[in-house]
Amino acid sequence: MRSSLVCFEPFQRKQPLEKPLCVIIHVWNNMREQYSCLIDFNDVLQVDLWRPNSASLIRENSPVDIHVGWNKTQWLRRHLHQAHIHYKVLISNLQTEIEKQIGYRRSSRTRRSEFQYDYEVYHPLEEIRSWMFEMNRTHPHLVDLFSIGQSYEGRPLYVLQLGKRTRPFKKAVWIDCGVHAREWIGPAFCQWFVKEALNSYQQDSGMRRLMNQLNFYIMPVFNVDGYHYSWKTDRFWRKTRSKIPKYHCRGVDANRNWKVKWCDEGASLHPCDDTYCGPFPESEPEVKAVAKFLRKHRKRVKAYISIHAYAQMLLYPYSYKYATIPNFNCVESAAQNAVSALYSAYGVRYRYGPASTTLYVSSGSSIDWAYKNGIPYAFAFELRDTGYYGFLLPETLINPTCTETMRAVKTIASGLLKKCTK
Ligand SMILES: [Zn+2]
Repeated sequence: MRSSLVCFEPFQRKQPLEKPLCVIIHVWNNMREQYSCLIDFNDVLQVDLWRPNSASLIRENSPVDIHVGWNKTQWLRRHLHQAHIHYKVLISNLQTEIEKQIGYRRSSRTRRSEFQYDYEVYHPLEEIRSWMFEMNRTHPHLVDLFSIGQSYEGRPLYVLQLGKRTRPFKKAVWIDCGVHAREWIGPAFCQWFVKEALNSYQQDSGMRRLMNQLNFYIMPVFNVDGYHYSWKTDRFWRKTRSKIPKYHCRGVDANRNWKVKWCDEGASLHPCDDTYCGPFPESEPEVKAVAKFLRKHRKRVKAYISIHAYAQMLLYPYSYKYATIPNFNCVESAAQNAVSALYSAYGVRYRYGPASTTLYVSSGSSIDWAYKNGIPYAFAFELRDTGYYGFLLPETLINPTCTETMRAVKTIASGLLKKCTK
C-alpha cells in the first residue's frame, strides 16, 4: 500500500532545507529468506516502492529501490543490517534532487525567445501543450494534431500525427509516453522524437523514408492528470487521478487497466496500491480513449510502443503469462536490432525479452492488449537508468537517453517496411 509520504513541499519554497526529508535505499542480493523480510519491512513502514512497483512483485535476487521518509531510515537501516541484507543509500537528499528539476533553481531558466523550445529540460503539462500547438502550426505538411478524448479531470488527450500525406492507408506506429506520471523522461522522449523527425526530414534519407511510408501517432502525455499532479503536488505520483467511491485513495495504474487478463497476477484490487487495476477494465477515460483509437486503426497500426522508466529494458508480450508469442522470431529479432542500435550510441546495455520473464508478470498491460488486438509488434521501453537516479534522471541525461532511444525506435519502425521471413 502506498504511504502518504510528504517528501517535499510545493515548489514555491525559496530556501533549501537543512535536513533531507526522504532518501532512496537500494537493496540487492536478497536471497529467499531475506526477501520475505523486505516484504515485512514494507508492511511495517508503508514505504513507497520505486522498484518493483508493489511488494507482491519483490522477488529473490532482483533489486529493490525503496523511497522512505527520513524519520524511518534509521529503523529500516537497522533492520536491513540485522537481516544481513546488503543495501546502499542511492539518493541521500531527495529534496535537492527534486529541486534540480523543478524547484527554485530553475526559476532562472531561460525563456528563450519565441519558440526556441528547450528539449533538454523537463516541461510541465501546459508547456508541452503549447509546444504541440506550435509543432502543428509550423509543420502543416507533416503534422496533424487532434484530441482522442478527455482525461478524468477533463483535459484533452492530444495526439500528434506525423508523416507525409502520401496515400490514405499508410502503415502506422503508435508511441505513447507518460502512462506513469513520475516517469518524466517519457514525455521528454516523445517530444524529442517529434523534434528529430521534423528537423531531420530534409537531410536524413532514413527518416524521410519512414515519414513518407509510415504515419506516427505520438501521444506525449498519456496520463495528463497524473503528470500535472506530479509537477504540482507529488513528484512520485504514478497513477491516474480518478476517484473511487468510498475510498480515500485516488488513481488507477493505467498499465493494469486494459482489457486483457484484467486484474490477474501482478495487479492489485486495492485502490490504495500503486498497481491498482481499477474497478473494471478501461475504467480510466485515458485508457478507454487510446483503446478506442487503436481499435479503430488496428488494421494500419503495425507497432505499438509505450515509453516507461526505469530499468533499461525493451519488453514485448506476454506480460501476463510465461508463454511464447506466435510471431516470437520476428519480434525477438526486432528487439535485438533495436537494442544493438541503442547500444551503438553510447554503449548503454538494455536487456530485452518477454515482459513476464524479463521484468515481472503483470496483467492488464497495454502491450498485451495491443498484441491481442492484432498489432504484431508491441513494445514497452523502460528507459534509463537502473536505479542510480531512478525517476529523478537529471536533465543532463535527457539528450543521451533520447538520442539512443531514437535509434532503437527508428530501427523498429524501419523493420516494419521489410517483410519478416523468420
Ligand atoms: Zn511505467
